[in-house]
Amino acid sequence: MNKVYLQKGKEKPVRLRHNWIFSGAIAKWDAGVVDGEIVSVHASDGSFLAYGYCNRKSKIQIRVLEWDEEKVIDAAWWTEKIGNAIQLRERYVPTRTTTARRLVFAEADGLPGLIVDQFGECLTMQIMTLGIEKQKSVIVQALKDLINPKGIYEKSDSPLRQLEGLEPISEIVSGAIPTEIEVEEYGTRFSVNIEDGQKSGFYADQRDNRQLALQFMKDKKVLDCFSYTGGFSVHALKSSATFVRAVDSSADALGRLTLNMELNQISSDKFEVVQADVFQYLRDQSYLDFDVVILDPPKLAPSRQSVPKAERAYKDLNMQALQKMGPGSILISFSCSGSIVLEHFKQILAWAATDAGKEIQFLQDLGQPMDHPVRAAFPESSYLKGVVAMVMN
Ligand code: SAH
Repeated sequence: MNKVYLQKGKEKPVRLRHNWIFSGAIAKWDAGVVDGEIVSVHASDGSFLAYGYCNRKSKIQIRVLEWDEEKVIDAAWWTEKIGNAIQLRERYVPTRTTTARRLVFAEADGLPGLIVDQFGECLTMQIMTLGIEKQKSVIVQALKDLINPKGIYEKSDSPLRQLEGLEPISEIVSGAIPTEIEVEEYGTRFSVNIEDGQKSGFYADQRDNRQLALQFMKDKKVLDCFSYTGGFSVHALKSSATFVRAVDSSADALGRLTLNMELNQISSDKFEVVQADVFQYLRDQSYLDFDVVILDPPKLAPSRQSVPKAERAYKDLNMQALQKMGPGSILISFSCSGSIVLEHFKQILAWAATDAGKEIQFLQDLGQPMDHPVRAAFPESSYLKGVVAMVMN
């Protein structure tokens, strides 16, 4: 196996079990290294640190897979790692709770660059890096051996692939994938189209938050902004909300939301859909005659550099809503930007409230569910946070 040596003093993050090694930390590559292959990583004194796969085209040149020198990274290793990740979900996010769940969450499960989601009897696989691309057939075989899915669809369309010199890929890699897959989340049914859907067709990461939100919706009117295919809306009406207005810019998403309502026998006079830009929509309203307002925008800060701009966008969005909400109403607001942590997000909401001339009370903090875990050594996996806040005046 080829070796890589780090600069003196750069071994600490690796020893602390962070997965990423940047170009600046590397002193020397063995001559024969081929991008995408697995190398052994050594400190400047030559001592062994870890095994990882490499790509010198990327800013993150090595992603660490294993810290135990005795281990061999072969097919059995991949099967064991993926198996461990699946076992965690079997234990804590069982299919009787939901048939839409994340089985492998990249670095958080010790498998950098790989995401696997389950939708009923089918899987989607997202490959972000060249190192994982090279292991594709081993990974597909491991998934077949472990859960024998009806089909596996590769949905490698993340813009991050460009940084690795990879083209986007969307295709069936094993078995067959039906056009429509039905999944169940706490007894509520959703139709998912893996091939068309954004992200991976259904936002399973909001599962727990949808359940927590229900307690605020009994006999209430709900405005679901950035509704997508109705994750919050359908649960709200299936539970005990009286009326939902869903706003999203995507006609396709709203079409599927309507379909999901029908799938759950919810009568069409209980909800309406509005195709609009939520930022503009909120600006255009003089008063929001709703008891609960949900704001679940897409990632507004895709990188650390975009944080100041995103901060203003989150503030503006929440301010527009708060300004027009009545006393006692509830705001359920999210950010899925990894670079904005919960306390920062709450600070932004506090600024939004001040500028809206409102006082708010934080009632509950929200996060990501157990199939989206975070390894302590790799906090970058933490991205979804939210709050439930009550408008006091
Ligand atoms: N809450 C949803 C997930 C929201 S995903 C659920 O539980 O399933 C974010 C959604 O925001 C997507 O549906 C996307 O179409 C929509 N979107 C993105 N930018 C928008 C904008 N400016 N105005 C309205 N909708 C937008």
